[in-house]
Amino acid sequence: MENGTVETVYVVSAASGAGKTSLLRALIEQDSGLAVSVSHTTRAPRSAERDGVDYHFVDDPTFVGLIEQNAFVEHAHVFDRRYGTSWAAIQLELEQGHDVLLEIDWQGARQVRERLLNVVSIFILPPSLAALEQRLRARNQDSDEVIARRMEAAVAEMQHCTEYDYLVVNDDFQQALTDLNAIIQARRLQLRRQLTAQAEIISALLEQPGSG
Ligand code: 5GP
Repeated sequence: MENGTVETVYVVSAASGAGKTSLLRALIEQDSGLAVSVSHTTRAPRSAERDGVDYHFVDDPTFVGLIEQNAFVEHAHVFDRRYGTSWAAIQLELEQGHDVLLEIDWQGARQVRERLLNVVSIFILPPSLAALEQRLRARNQDSDEVIARRMEAAVAEMQHCTEYDYLVVNDDFQQALTDLNAIIQARRLQLRRQLTAQAEIISALLEQPGSG
């Protein structure tokens, strides 16, 4: 997408259990300039999840229909279910001047890097495999077999962390949040963005004496 806008698309991936969702929720609460893109998925909603808020929950034929209409920026199979980010979900936020967060897996991250400009990618790592397993068990919603499968998938996902621009280790939650904020703030202070955000100050400062 040739977005001439200055807004940034942040792609955030992690092994499930690394604390990505809680970190991103905290980030968004603190920062009104950020919004999470709502993905489509064919998996069933979990108990507290709401359609249109956590995901757009659709069936397989609907998802395939959307692929055929080129509705997705990226889509992938994750845990045998389909997940995808629609162009509409991203554009809606960019048009409102928001930076957009995509919580997607490594396959989707690759596609987004290929298709969009102004992408910054971040991978969130747990401090250890033991910590990861403990967090998965603490959710108390999966059987041993499912947890073993999730651990395997987590290790496979983490193999791709070297493809990202930034790595954040979520050992201490507040520190990880500070790190994520630092990435976002540094991006906002880049010249191309500041030229727009601080246009008045800059033009006043650079005005030649006697030219006005
Ligand atoms: P969950 O089913 O636990 O919400 O998400 C499972 C995995 O799917 C997570 O690792 C998440 O990053 C990934 N995922 C969620 N939405 C998308 C999406 O729109 N595209 C892709 N490629 N992956 C997604």
